[in-house]
Amino acid sequence: MPAGWIVGATGVLRNPEQVLTVAARERLARVLDSDETLTIVGADERGPGRATAGGSRLVWHFVADTVNDFAWSASDRYIWDATRATIPEYGAIPIHMLYTPGRAQSWSRAPGILRHALEFYSDLWMPYAFPQLTMADGPETGMEYPMFIMSGVGAADHEVAHEWWPMMVGTNETWYGFMDEGFDQYMNILSNAARTGESPSLDGLGQRYGSISGNENEAPLMWNANHGGSMYSFQAYSKAPLMLSMLGGIVGDTAVWRAMSEYAKAWRFRHPTPWDYAFFMNHALGEDLSWFWYSWLFTTDAVDGSIQNARTNGSVTTVVVRQDGQMPAPVVLRVDFAPTGAPIRAMQNSTMLDDRTALVTWPVDVWFDGYRTFTATLDFGGRAIERITLDPFGRFPDRDVNDNVWPRAAAAAQDNGAGR
Ligand SMILES: [Zn+2]
Repeated sequence: MPAGWIVGATGVLRNPEQVLTVAARERLARVLDSDETLTIVGADERGPGRATAGGSRLVWHFVADTVNDFAWSASDRYIWDATRATIPEYGAIPIHMLYTPGRAQSWSRAPGILRHALEFYSDLWMPYAFPQLTMADGPETGMEYPMFIMSGVGAADHEVAHEWWPMMVGTNETWYGFMDEGFDQYMNILSNAARTGESPSLDGLGQRYGSISGNENEAPLMWNANHGGSMYSFQAYSKAPLMLSMLGGIVGDTAVWRAMSEYAKAWRFRHPTPWDYAFFMNHALGEDLSWFWYSWLFTTDAVDGSIQNARTNGSVTTVVVRQDGQMPAPVVLRVDFAPTGAPIRAMQNSTMLDDRTALVTWPVDVWFDGYRTFTATLDFGGRAIERITLDPFGRFPDRDVNDNVWPRAAAAAQDNGAGR
């Protein structure tokens, strides 16, 4: 490179004494001491002997182990900042940020976002395995490489997440985009919530697929994403978070996170196929979810459930649940009771959400004999039921959610309320 040009790359710089100034090397030596952001080369340090070592041409020597790709960028205008992230099992590693002076304001947010992403995803799935991370500014505002991202600040969390897939878990991201961009989008939801101190909102995501299912432009997730067509970005990016929302609605979100973490660790620096993923998740979750993977990976089917009617006789209420979609789902009913009356007696398959709301579930198997309706029998000891809601957390793909509430008048009243 011409002297005076700063280079960032995949790998660790092997010869800083030949390409950096004494001042830059002294500043770099302090990066791992704290979470502070240090300027390694400032805006006023330009040209040979100031931005870099002197001379006319310099050879920058980077070494990387266990990487599936290599990238680098260079500029004679870069400002070079650095901070650290603390990775479980590995300790502190440097984060390098190379940006042009005009972007200094937005890049002031970069250290916090990058540190959070590296530390959060290390805790969520498995520790970041590389000895450094570099984010480089330039015309490319969002592309990932091993321990190196070309990104604007807005995409930084997403691009860091790619270090888990496809950099550490070597998925075939151009064929099976959902295992790469899709899992990435899902973990971004969790990271963004954690960064702002909120709990992640995964309710409603799975249900949303009901209004998309049936679009003839949509390719199933198993269709080679290189030929994803006009709905490529939905297929590769957006559908997997909806799938994992539904999975969380069946086994619980924390079980999904634990299983995904075990999957990441088992396939670290290996090359899993979608079949490996599905079989691994079945094993980790201790449940045969073949029906789930079949529907989500190989088809574009949805659930499309409804409550047809509910009749009460004594303490027993029978609820007729209908399933018009090709994807089955567990039957999950929320039961809202009247404020007073007979004591509420729990059912074997129920849990109380509060003192007048119960959640009742039946396993997905109720659909496996091919019937389109299932009669759910509720017996809570005689307390009057005010309202019954199918899939109350919005986890299962549904074309029309208005028919998920009984009595239907309650749904209409809710719509009017929302309208005001
Ligand atoms: Zn991406």
